[in-house]
Amino acid sequence: RATLGVLGGGQLGRMFVHAAQRLGYFTAVLDPDAQSPAGLVSHHHIQTAYDDPAGLAQLAQLCQAITTEFENVPAQALQTLAQTRAVAPGAAVVGIAQNRIEEKAHFTACADISGVTCAPYTVIETPAQLQDVLANRADLLPGILKTARMGYDGKGQVRVKTVEELGAAWAELGGVACVLEKMLPLTAECSVLVARGWDGQVVSFAPQRNVHVDGILAVTHAYEGNMPPALATRSREAAVAIAQHLGYVGVLCVEFFVVDDGSAHGGLVVNEMAPRPHNSGHYTLDACDASQFDLQVHAMAGLPLPQPRQHSAAIMLNLLGEVWLDASGQRREPDWQAVLSLPGTHLHLYGKEHARIGRKMGHLTITGPDVDSVKTVARRAAGWLGLPGLNDI
Ligand code: ATP
Ligand code: MG
Ligand code: MG
Repeated sequence: RATLGVLGGGQLGRMFVHAAQRLGYFTAVLDPDAQSPAGLVSHHHIQTAYDDPAGLAQLAQLCQAITTEFENVPAQALQTLAQTRAVAPGAAVVGIAQNRIEEKAHFTACADISGVTCAPYTVIETPAQLQDVLANRADLLPGILKTARMGYDGKGQVRVKTVEELGAAWAELGGVACVLEKMLPLTAECSVLVARGWDGQVVSFAPQRNVHVDGILAVTHAYEGNMPPALATRSREAAVAIAQHLGYVGVLCVEFFVVDDGSAHGGLVVNEMAPRPHNSGHYTLDACDASQFDLQVHAMAGLPLPQPRQHSAAIMLNLLGEVWLDASGQRREPDWQAVLSLPGTHLHLYGKEHARIGRKMGHLTITGPDVDSVKTVARRAAGWLGLPGLNDI
């Protein structure tokens, strides 16, 4: 039996391992953490740093093909593995997605074929550039200063209203390479999952509408009518164009903003992309006949990519560490008996021991035959669990 490998041992790796195992593959996970969610369920767990040459050599030796689930995996590690093994996505595209400056340059370069642009922005890498922006780019305020690298879940971002705040924010972020983005009046956010094979075959899911609370995904709405049809079509076509322009292989998630631009449906703006399955696509496990992880396995292993079909309306609720913490910060188990007594509830827990505020511990997907019944159950479950985003369901 062939073995498929993954760099990174988080929950995305864990769900990848589950999908690979269902198809009869052995799996190998490289992650330094002995208790990593994916390492715990994999046949092989290479417990070492992502850039350890011996660990990478062992992974290459074990595996027929290798993927990544960890956004900030050193692109160099993928390059090393690619010398001897099929690696998807490749080091070059992962490198682009890891750097907001390169990412936005890519979005801009393919704006003609994707039909979408990013929010107005500028790059701040040096004190001289900062001075120039302070003097000349008041048009980008109020804005968000984002580190070019390593940010996720809203970390590495500061919202700034004035030039004074901008100067202070750049210092606060350590004077590293950043982008300053204009704050847009969002009416909604959505994301699109695309899978592309070695041969260029592309399939995609319909866009899901996402609600963020404090910069972290809280709720995903995935059903017919979750957004205006014209925007749904445009965002899906844009994501496919972006993947094709990159020559991408694997699963790619592209995030979009919907802004009020005075038009009937609003305008579409591309935000960022993740070179892997995405939290907003977890509903595909329970609501579609092929999940984002199934497609990741197919793409990297060179199997045909089935066009996925969604068979149920779905809402996904993210379960962060706070759900496990009582008022005094003690860990307690939520009332799963109650939650699982509701129809169409699918509980996914990632096997993480320590509950911390904002830590992704699991998710709950609610499926049903129609939107209304799914919303009714989702509201009840979210209320019982004390989840945010309830008003948006
Ligand atoms: P992720 O965990 O999705 O990788 P991230 O830390 O990379 O998140 P972004 O996606 O850039 O961060 O921003 C997080 C959230 O902040 C967005 O989903 C959106 O709600 C808000 N946001 C970011 N940029 C803007 C903007 N230019 N205008 C308005 N809101 C924004
Ligand atoms: Mg991001
Ligand atoms: Mg994001």
